[in-house]
Amino acid sequence: MNPDIFKDKELVKKTLNALKKKVEKLENIRLMEFCGTHTHNIFQYGFRNAFLPHIRFIAGPGCPVCVTSEEDLAEVKFLFDNYDVGIIAYGDLLKVPLKGKSLLDYRAEGRPVEVVYSAIDAVKIAENKKDKEWVFLGVGFETTTPGTSASIMIAEKKGIKNLSYLSFHKNTKAVLKALGTLGNLYADGVILPGHVSAVVGYNYFREIEKFGIPAVVVGFEPLDLLAGISELIDMILKKEVGIKCAYPRAVNERGNEKMLRAIEDTFDTIDAYWRGLGIIENGGYELKNFYDGFNARKKYSIPKELPVDKEKGCRCGDVLIGRIEPTDCPLFKKVCSPANPIGPCMVSYEGTCLAYYKWGVENQRLD
Ligand code: SF4
Repeated sequence: MNPDIFKDKELVKKTLNALKKKVEKLENIRLMEFCGTHTHNIFQYGFRNAFLPHIRFIAGPGCPVCVTSEEDLAEVKFLFDNYDVGIIAYGDLLKVPLKGKSLLDYRAEGRPVEVVYSAIDAVKIAENKKDKEWVFLGVGFETTTPGTSASIMIAEKKGIKNLSYLSFHKNTKAVLKALGTLGNLYADGVILPGHVSAVVGYNYFREIEKFGIPAVVVGFEPLDLLAGISELIDMILKKEVGIKCAYPRAVNERGNEKMLRAIEDTFDTIDAYWRGLGIIENGGYELKNFYDGFNARKKYSIPKELPVDKEKGCRCGDVLIGRIEPTDCPLFKKVCSPANPIGPCMVSYEGTCLAYYKWGVENQRLD
């Protein structure tokens, strides 16, 4: 099937108009989009305003850089302050403040900071620059974790000694469970992440059913989004609880077995800090003991509890669980902007504050 069909303007208009009629009787239904890409696309395609006041979209904890905690970033600062190491990271992380100083600032001071698009490129950097010790920062959910797994396995096979990994990878099932259990799931329905679900399969999120709300796996093109929202609205109208998949061309029940096996072979789940949420049981991935030689925490004896300075006034943590919207943060646009980000929600491409800044109402398009 031609994928452009999911962007067909006429079809989008027709579907949007039909859906608008369907939601007319609803009032203030809150749909949480877990994934930052959904947040941006819902803004970009104009759907955010199209369904007001019947449906409100609220962002969830699905921006990998945003949920990387201050405790995680303190470990990077510890490495820079105590060792002559080079850092390899995804570009999104470069402008995130680490106690007032970002990786970009460190690079401007002459510290080696390399940007990669794939975790496997970290191996190439270590091979090409053997005079330096390198640490790769593993950030993200189950979408990027298999890439880090592959990188670790390749480094081990090649016997590379000057590369280690600092895993900030986060477990999506654990955070949804924590939000539901703590009563912090401020939503009538959840738009589940299409990319993560392609790896883990939608059965992975079954525990949401316990919290009495429906959830639907949704894709990213405009028609994918409308199909998913429509499915979710139908479930809400019928008071149906459960999980459905509106993205069958990419997602099945069980996920990608090869990728899941790679994660299982290299990582254990551990309790981990999430920004704004504190420690979440089994919320993170740590390298298995077999890979101790590649674990930066062990190689550089990083202390367990490092001093952490929270950015004063930044409400990223509340934004990440949908408790407030970025416009409720007193720093939004006044002090905090993409040029002067105070928190990661304004830095990352998937950040909710950046979405609100970039796709302000005046910038939305419906055609
Ligand atoms: S607007 Fe800036 S300071 Fe406020 S929550 Fe977002 S990132 Fe933090």
